[in-house]
Amino acid sequence: MKKRTKFYALLFAMVLSLTQMIGAAVPVKAATKECSHGYTLVNGIGIRMHECGESVCITCYHGHSKRVVIPKTFKLNGKNLPPTQIDWADCGFSENGVKEIVIPDTLDYLGYWDEDEVNTSYKDITFFVHKGSKAAKAVQAEGYKYRYLNDNSNPQPVKGTSIKRTVRIQNLTKITWKKVKCDKYEIRYSQKKNMKNAKKINCGKNKTSLVIKKLKKNRKYYVQIRTKSGKKYSAWSKVKTISKR
Ligand SMILES: [Zn+2]
Repeated sequence: MKKRTKFYALLFAMVLSLTQMIGAAVPVKAATKECSHGYTLVNGIGIRMHECGESVCITCYHGHSKRVVIPKTFKLNGKNLPPTQIDWADCGFSENGVKEIVIPDTLDYLGYWDEDEVNTSYKDITFFVHKGSKAAKAVQAEGYKYRYLNDNSNPQPVKGTSIKRTVRIQNLTKITWKKVKCDKYEIRYSQKKNMKNAKKINCGKNKTSLVIKKLKKNRKYYVQIRTKSGKKYSAWSKVKTISKR
């Protein structure tokens, strides 16, 4: 009897490794993976067609990430569908060590159909949602732990500008720069190339030149410019010299 069990175990292992070998050779597109529960598996996330037929329901988790980001759409039955629901039962998330689930705005239901049922699922998991989204309301409705996603977490760098030229006339200088789209310009100038003790001047977005007065005679100056868009600044431009006079 024991021997027989061993034989089947060996046979099972062989079949498993064989399917893995074949699986590795088959293009990803051709194979629809299925999880052990019989649901479609996409990057460790189990999904099924929602009853409405126009969206996806998240059923389970088979991966090992601490933070799971639920995609905005899933390809299922040849359609790109948004997820609208996560099944109320924590199937594999906590078990596999998930601590955070980032859910898209389209996801509007995480509950159980029977409202009298005490839902203890996902109690050690924090959901990440956009403030004011349907997803935010859904996690709040279930009393799950959640935090708001910060949209500035992946900022686009602010486009800077450069100084075209500086003209020195006695104790003043005129600086001109390239116009770019921004909310305002910030100019700084100093007698030191490293901008030590620099003075700063702000200019409106429609300006492309500035006259600085009261420069010291026979002193060289250095000037730089950057732009501000919203609350963010661009990098400073290259340092330009203001010749002495
Ligand atoms: Zn599953």
